[in-house]
Amino acid sequence: MLTSSPVKAKELDVLLKRAVEFHGHLGPFLVLGLRMGLAGLRELNAKKGEKKLRVTAKLKYSIPFSCAVDGLQIATKCTMGNKKLRLRNHSGIAAKFELEGGEQVTVTVNSALFDTLKGELPSESFPSEEVRELAQLVASTSEEELFTISRG
Ligand SMILES: [Zn+2]
Repeated sequence: MLTSSPVKAKELDVLLKRAVEFHGHLGPFLVLGLRMGLAGLRELNAKKGEKKLRVTAKLKYSIPFSCAVDGLQIATKCTMGNKKLRLRNHSGIAAKFELEGGEQVTVTVNSALFDTLKGELPSESFPSEEVRELAQLVASTSEEELFTISRG
C-alpha cells in the first residue's frame, strides 16, 4: 500500500456535480470511478488530460458497475472517444493508470466494499434515496478503506 492523502472534499464536490450532469444520475459506482481516477492521477503525479496518460478500466460492462467508467472519464479525461480509455472484463473493479512508456499504477476496489455495494444496491430502481446514500458513503469513506493501490 502506498501513501495517500485524504481526497480534497471540495475538489470531489466539483467533480461530482460534473459527473452527475454527464452521467445522468448519482450512484456509488460513479463516485468510485471518480475517486479511482483521482487516486490514479495522484499516484502517477499526473494531471487529467495529460498527453501520455492512459487508463484501463477493469470491470463488468453492465450497470451499475459500468457507471464507474464515466467517473473515470470525468476524473482523467481519458475517454472512449479519445481512445485513451480501454475496457477489460473483470469480476471485480479496478483501473490501471499509465504514462505511456513510463510508470503504471493499479487501483483496485477492495472486495469487502465491492460485495457490500453489490449486496445493497437495489436493481433497476435508481435514482432512489438509498442509492444516493450509498454514493455519499463512497464519497466520504477513506481511500484506504476503498482501494488497494499497487505499482504495475
Ligand atoms: Zn450510473
